[in-house]
Amino acid sequence: MDPRFARRVQDLQQSDIRRFSAWCASIGGVNLSQGVCDQPAPEVVKAAAKRAIDEDHATYTHMRGIAELRQAIAGKMDRFNGIKADPETEIAVTVGTAAAFACTALTLLNPGDEVIVFSPYYSYHVNLLRLFGNEVRFVDSRPPDWRYDAGELAAAFNARTRMILINTPANPSGKVFSEAELAEIAALARRHDAWIVTDEIYEYITYGQPHVSAGRLPDAADRTVTISGASKTYAVTGWRVGYAIAPAEVIDKIGVVSDHVTICSPAPLQHGIAAGMGLPDSYYEGMRADYLIKRDMLADTLRAVGFDPYVPEGSYYMLAGFESGRFRDATHATESILEQVGVATVPGSAFYRDPASGQRQLRFCYAKRMADLEEACRRLRRLKRET
Ligand code: GLN
Repeated sequence: MDPRFARRVQDLQQSDIRRFSAWCASIGGVNLSQGVCDQPAPEVVKAAAKRAIDEDHATYTHMRGIAELRQAIAGKMDRFNGIKADPETEIAVTVGTAAAFACTALTLLNPGDEVIVFSPYYSYHVNLLRLFGNEVRFVDSRPPDWRYDAGELAAAFNARTRMILINTPANPSGKVFSEAELAEIAALARRHDAWIVTDEIYEYITYGQPHVSAGRLPDAADRTVTISGASKTYAVTGWRVGYAIAPAEVIDKIGVVSDHVTICSPAPLQHGIAAGMGLPDSYYEGMRADYLIKRDMLADTLRAVGFDPYVPEGSYYMLAGFESGRFRDATHATESILEQVGVATVPGSAFYRDPASGQRQLRFCYAKRMADLEEACRRLRRLKRET
């Protein structure tokens, strides 16, 4: 306990995702750790942002984002997600999806309220909830297909449950929730009067199984906050443009919270993303095809060196198991691979309610330029001899 700091940050630590990413940078390795998505952004996105800078779009925007972007998001939500959202009242642009999540949690949860989260989980969700004084109740989804037990899910709801969090496609498992699963979650949320918050940042990155938004299910529409953003879809993770979609009363509050915490997302970059949302379907199809090739290339490499990859249905992460005895634990595996061949990953233990469940798994991110992923695979193949 350090008395200089608030209780809420006493146990808060840098994430393993960032830690291994920074370590990788310091030794000039290939980073398959943090999902940085270091690939070129579409020209139309970059050109529109540059034009906005040249035209001095340099001041604060509307607290819920520029009108052009909210209209573009409304069009995209209708076309792609099957959700009708009024750009004036039901959409708030935020500083990335992380801020959309934070502002949503601050808007809907009192300290002590419980949130149901599927494990393995994205650590930023859970750490933010804990920072805000909320309790997390986990439901396990299990490899290789990441199903969960319906009874366990139903039993997780109780009088303190205020929210259930969905991440589809999921980080780190790549699970894509089916319509039947979402309908079941919606029915439980209705029965227990809980909010559904669904983080769909990887919505365009699926490999066959269709992406379904819980917010379009009739049972869920009035209690769902859908959050997403531009980071992964346009390869602009550092631009910090995200958004939340929800009924008007909820968005009104989320917008005010977002204003108090961050004022607005960067103005010129909002213009860039508005232009990106006009890209034709072929752009998204091309992205999916590219990730499919990269996914399979990484899975083949991992199999060739004795790992057991859980090939994802969506997202651009892959968890892979290794045999007990090969490394002491997941952190040792990460350190050892980074030291031996200069490829950074994340220990699986960083993603599970019980770190023991991930002690024989690593997470690999394949959102890389092809040449970099090829280099990573070449290096990983050397592990065969050396471990
Ligand atoms: N979402 C990305 C990941 O899981 C990166 C997020 C971050 O840097 N915190 O790696």
